[in-house]
Amino acid sequence: YFITFEGGEGAGKSSILQAVARKLSEGGYDVLATREPGGIDIAEKIRQVILDKTHTAMDARTEALLYAAARRQHLAEKIIPALNEGKLVLCDRFIDSSLVYQGYARGIGMDEVFAINQFAIRDVFPDMTLFFDIPPTKGLARITANENRERNRLDMENIRFHEMVYEAYQMLLSQFPKRIQTIDADQPFEQVKANVMKVLQSGLQK
Ligand code: C5P
Repeated sequence: YFITFEGGEGAGKSSILQAVARKLSEGGYDVLATREPGGIDIAEKIRQVILDKTHTAMDARTEALLYAAARRQHLAEKIIPALNEGKLVLCDRFIDSSLVYQGYARGIGMDEVFAINQFAIRDVFPDMTLFFDIPPTKGLARITANENRERNRLDMENIRFHEMVYEAYQMLLSQFPKRIQTIDADQPFEQVKANVMKVLQSGLQK
């Protein structure tokens, strides 16, 4: 069973993912908690190319192809083997992040980014996706309040960009109403965690 966690900056999805992974393991599930590029050498190297600040001329489509390539490698080396072993896979960001960030916010078009990602992932689509819903300004405020995290890329991405990210997630929610479940992330940590556990447990029983 393959579950992805999605949302804008400061939605808290990564910390919640770690917390629920621990809880589900304690509950007897065989869990793989991962995030792209997932410690996979080839995927990590692709990611370094994407994030290298000296590459000031990175074309948006090049970036989209590199994300799709890194995703493919992470999937092939880590996620698919885990699913074949019957593991419950929780992945922090996946195809929807590319549709939202490269497709919509960077302006390539969600359909075209979907096409290259379909090539990359083939039939390994998430069984369930949790969208961590928080107004973009609130999410951003959470991050800037947390000085320990390396978030300097935010300087380059203005509020409008994050509003576009939010809009694009809303579009995906109406496009995939069965796959994507909304989690109210504008709540205290323990509350969000409890809601996520509830949604996951009812999904896993189906
Ligand atoms: O919240 P997280 O640490 O996962 O942040 C990932 C950031 O990386 C996003 O806010 C975005 O700037 C960038 N990203 C991206 N395209 C993706 C995935 C992440 O631009 N497909």
